[in-house]
Amino acid sequence: MDNILIVEDSKSIIKSLQSNIEELGHNCIVAKSYKECAEKLLEFKGNFKVALLDLGLPDAPNGEVVDFVTKFNIPSIVLTGSKIEEHEERFRNKNIVDYVIKEGNFSIRYAVSLVKRIISNDKIDILVVDDSKSFLLKVDELLKRYKLNTHLAYNGEEALSILEANPNIKLVLTDYYMPKMDGLELTKKIRKKYNKDELAIIVASSDSNNKVASKFLKYGANDYIYKTFTTEEFYTRLNSNLEILELFKDVKNKANKDYLTGMYNRRYLFDYGEELFQRVKHKKNDSFCVAIIDIDKFKYINDTWGHDVGDIAIKEVPLVLSKYVGDNSLMARLGGEEFCILLKDRKKEEIKKIFEEVKCAFENNIIKTKKCDLSFTVSIGICTILEDSLTKMINHADEALYKAKKTGRNKVFYYES
Ligand code: GH3
Ligand code: MG
Ligand code: MG
Repeated sequence: MDNILIVEDSKSIIKSLQSNIEELGHNCIVAKSYKECAEKLLEFKGNFKVALLDLGLPDAPNGEVVDFVTKFNIPSIVLTGSKIEEHEERFRNKNIVDYVIKEGNFSIRYAVSLVKRIISNDKIDILVVDDSKSFLLKVDELLKRYKLNTHLAYNGEEALSILEANPNIKLVLTDYYMPKMDGLELTKKIRKKYNKDELAIIVASSDSNNKVASKFLKYGANDYIYKTFTTEEFYTRLNSNLEILELFKDVKNKANKDYLTGMYNRRYLFDYGEELFQRVKHKKNDSFCVAIIDIDKFKYINDTWGHDVGDIAIKEVPLVLSKYVGDNSLMARLGGEEFCILLKDRKKEEIKKIFEEVKCAFENNIIKTKKCDLSFTVSIGICTILEDSLTKMINHADEALYKAKKTGRNKVFYYES
């Protein structure tokens, strides 16, 4: 849980900021004056992820608290009653992230979205490409204020190799005219490998020819900005592009994951699993294993204790499995109380050991619920014979599972050709 410092004397503003920020799962520390702020900084040893600072406090009417808090290197959002232009000078302070003019609900929402943005930014990498060192340094400083991680390149060629080496990069900000490889060529090359929904490209150019922007957008840039941008415009464009990427990620998650367990769903298993399978097929020495796990007599749990307890049983499965199935694996809920695990690069003995342990783990597991102490066993069908398609291996694992059920359940069965 991150600590957020709020320094503000208006009770109503404190209340709305606090409730909205706590809803995001963060901890709010409130100070109503400069003096209280100093005490809180001491108490928490300056350990704040973000600070929201009022420019006019009873004991510090001229923004003194901003100069004070930013000395602790805490990214700060300034809350003000007046226009931003009046504080141009202060905006040069490298720890001030943005100004919010206090004008009702919208400004509170904006301030809260900034807090959210800054906290998630430290996991995001941005690549800036420009042959002008002064421009690179200027943008680098702006991005670092926002707690983003930065990579700098002087031309398209350099940019591509940095991109290759850093899969965390989510956005590229590129110039147009550069030696070796220009921004347009770079955009085309990036789009051959990365879709718009996984990597955003913003072009920053001084070219005022109105055809340039549309050319870039046609070749797959997400946005175009003139280099004469103001700090505010820069951050606004950056934010909206990062937000769109997050929305895409959200939608993908919803499409690929099962709502009850948070595991991958059947669709993802067949899409991504097939890719994983084909990669293994092309490397001759690798092994591939498909396991299907089904809860035994699950209908009995539903019928005896109700669907809510049935759901608890289903949700328990990924928790147990993840203790035994580690890297190089894919777990998915096939539907109902049936799950599939794909494992690659594992020796036969290792696979035997893993699933024997999984079977025993369920056997010995007791889940305390409001209605009962719940326990259940599972049957497992496995195919380790590399076939020519994933579907075929899944069908074989299913045949093995059928045998496990037929011969009494709570068993691990292997498909034999
Ligand atoms: P077996 O040991 O042969 O596997 O028998 P079983 O009772 O486990 O399997 P069966 O296929 O007969 O019953 C599965 C039941 O799972 C039927 C269905 O109503 C229930 N079910 C499917 N999806 C869900 C779910 O999301 N939640 C709950 N609670 N029940 C579900
Ligand atoms: Mg079952
Ligand atoms: Mg079933």
